[in-house]
Amino acid sequence: MTDYTKLRDCELFLFDMDGTLYLGDQVYEGAIALMEALPALGKRYIYLTNNSSRAGADYVQRLRRLGFPCQEENVFTSGMAVGQYLNQNHPDASVYLAGTRAFYRELQSYGIRLVNDEEGHTQADRVDVVVQGFDTELVYEKLERACHFLRRGAVFLAANPDWVCPMPDDEVLPDCGSICALLTAASGREPRYIGKPDRNMVDVISQMTGIDNRKICAVGDRLYTDIAVAQNAGAVSVLVLSGETDQRMLAEAQRKPDYVLPSVKELYEVLK
Ligand SMILES: [Mg+2]
Repeated sequence: MTDYTKLRDCELFLFDMDGTLYLGDQVYEGAIALMEALPALGKRYIYLTNNSSRAGADYVQRLRRLGFPCQEENVFTSGMAVGQYLNQNHPDASVYLAGTRAFYRELQSYGIRLVNDEEGHTQADRVDVVVQGFDTELVYEKLERACHFLRRGAVFLAANPDWVCPMPDDEVLPDCGSICALLTAASGREPRYIGKPDRNMVDVISQMTGIDNRKICAVGDRLYTDIAVAQNAGAVSVLVLSGETDQRMLAEAQRKPDYVLPSVKELYEVLK
């Protein structure tokens, strides 16, 4: 029998979305019921995503359209984490962003001094920081500019290390980690990743909510981001097998999650 005490004692749950609550537009069974039940169980929740191609406000709309309860304070993205990180660690820095228009506007809302326009055009010859996002609007000019600045010593930050973004029908999209691999090959520079699994994601949320990391539980389908962020931050982790990870990958993992469940439906059964 599994002892679920540590899981049931958690006050805040951080949910990955793709592969955990839904895939594409297909919502997993029991996912909405779980989210609707959490407040009555005395639990808070945040939808936590490494996807910086959309802004926080876009996620609020998307989650509501899929039928999930969601307020603005229930969403935290790697793009928002980058905005906070820049303000804390590189205040007033000039920044070149290689990302989507949505990420661009997100960083603007944090007051970040961006040297480029929404399309990635810039007249600047040097910048303090290059930020790479999951850029679904990528054009060659952005790669060329980013490489130029990185070779001249700009700090290299990236929203998330994911190689691919999962899609329905076994398709994937090249994600931020793959774009960064290209830039690393071209510039010889390695990025610092701000999103999961960097513990920064949990630490910032702990600061915002006043809840200790040990009372925070990360729920997700990917070992090297969703589970690793909890392990790096001293939080509790639940791996669901409804997405990327199968039993073989779990068996080969060096650090195991605290709990493993088939899907969020079973998480609901444990918590209620
Ligand atoms: Mg996922």
